[in-house]
Amino acid sequence: MKYSIFQIIKQGIRNNKNWKPTWNDKKPKKKYDVIIIGGGGHGLATAYYLAKNHNIKNVAVLEKNWIGGGNSGRNTTIVRSNYFIEGNTALYEHSLKLWETLSIDLNYNVMFSQRGHLNLVFSPSHRDSLMRKYNIMRLNGIDAEYLNLSQVKKFVPHLNFSSDNRIPILGGFLQKRAGTARHDAVNWGFARAASNLGVDIVQNCEVIKFLREKGKIIGVETTQGKIMSKKIGLAVAGSTSVLAKAAGLGKLPIESHKLQAFVSEPIKPFLDTVVVYGYNHGHFYISQSDKGGMVFGGNLDGYNSYAQKGNLPTYTDVMSAAMAIMPSLGRIKVLRQWSGIMDMSMDGSPFICKTKIPGLYLNAGWCYGGFKAIPGSGWCFAYTIANDKPHKINKLLNLDRYEKGIHIDESGNGPFPKAH
Ligand SMILES: Cc1cc2nc3c(=O)[nH]c(=O)nc-3n(C[C@H](O)[C@H](O)[C@H](O)COP(=O)(O)OP(=O)(O)OC[C@H]3O[C@@H](n4cnc5c(N)ncnc54)[C@H](O)[C@@H]3O)c2cc1C
Repeated sequence: MKYSIFQIIKQGIRNNKNWKPTWNDKKPKKKYDVIIIGGGGHGLATAYYLAKNHNIKNVAVLEKNWIGGGNSGRNTTIVRSNYFIEGNTALYEHSLKLWETLSIDLNYNVMFSQRGHLNLVFSPSHRDSLMRKYNIMRLNGIDAEYLNLSQVKKFVPHLNFSSDNRIPILGGFLQKRAGTARHDAVNWGFARAASNLGVDIVQNCEVIKFLREKGKIIGVETTQGKIMSKKIGLAVAGSTSVLAKAAGLGKLPIESHKLQAFVSEPIKPFLDTVVVYGYNHGHFYISQSDKGGMVFGGNLDGYNSYAQKGNLPTYTDVMSAAMAIMPSLGRIKVLRQWSGIMDMSMDGSPFICKTKIPGLYLNAGWCYGGFKAIPGSGWCFAYTIANDKPHKINKLLNLDRYEKGIHIDESGNGPFPKAH
């Protein structure tokens, strides 16, 4: 069923009783050409592009809970491509380009809004290091511009511009094509489009064990029985270490950490861009959702955990960061708070690659930034699985980089998750 204005009128005349389910929720078959484990954005996008770009349609997405119940439905929805190291630059820009036409491509409104992303600057050295990054973006053909203090004041008047502020604002770097999207819509849109092309979306199906023959992957054992396939893609974010170990990959350079997000009561239009700061004294990002809630977040909880719940120390840290740059937020109420389990890689960059086990492919290490990567990552992962080799966009995003010492250390602060 194609969604359109005519469909709305047609269904409206019939009392809205004939709408079809958005995707087909299936019982698994015994065998598939490809199995994707994890029904988050990355898994669903991979299945969609396998069917669409590579004509591989006998595909199942196995999700232990409900689709989009992981990080892909828990994030602060910021989409940008302001990366500067080879390996990341091409991937995130490819992804941003896919975002720009995604609603049309999926025939589903993912509510992508290119409202801009402003990275605040607090000291001359901070400005220099960001200037380097944004200049490199421009050299790579990615939009980027510097706003001086008066331009920032005009662009976001609600910030704390007082010169005796603990962190006085000096200016900011803007990526205009960046913005936000609606996270649930992205998951549902990919699930629907994949399902329309013949992919089976299987919820409540947890993968417990990997089946191997002569070293090669031949299938998985799940809570809904054995399912066979010679190609299996892992896209399980915070559960990557657990499943990689079960598959026989050993210990990966990934740690699981909690990241919390917050949303306030809805207010009138207040902020029509994304504002971010990440500096030695803290980390904070904020936007306003289409419903009016202020959506914001900050640093990771440095204590490794698989618990999807927040805690007071991180909460107070984020609130104090919020108050430092936008004191007017102190007058609104925080309505909800939640947390997701981040797959933190040790250099802050992801993996979209083959593994040492034939037939097993890895998509992980997304840290804070995997929402924006969903279309690009799915596109590249589908290519890698279909061709059994990486695309040139993701060829550096492999596990070997740790063995060879060629890390893609995007934040330049060393090999620990807190730095990213
Ligand atoms: C609070 C927060 C804020 C964030 N903000 C942003 C942001 O503003 N911008 C941005 O770009 N990124 C952001 N991120 C990061 C982004 O959300 C993630 O990187 C991205 O959603 C990861 O997608 P995924 O599909 O890999 O993982 P997920 O969406 O977590 O999906 C993985 C799925 O695997 C399933 N699974 C696990 N184990 C099994 C198993 N054994 N069998 C079957 N299924 C299994 C899980 O149930 C889950 O549904 C944020 C994350 C959080 C938590």
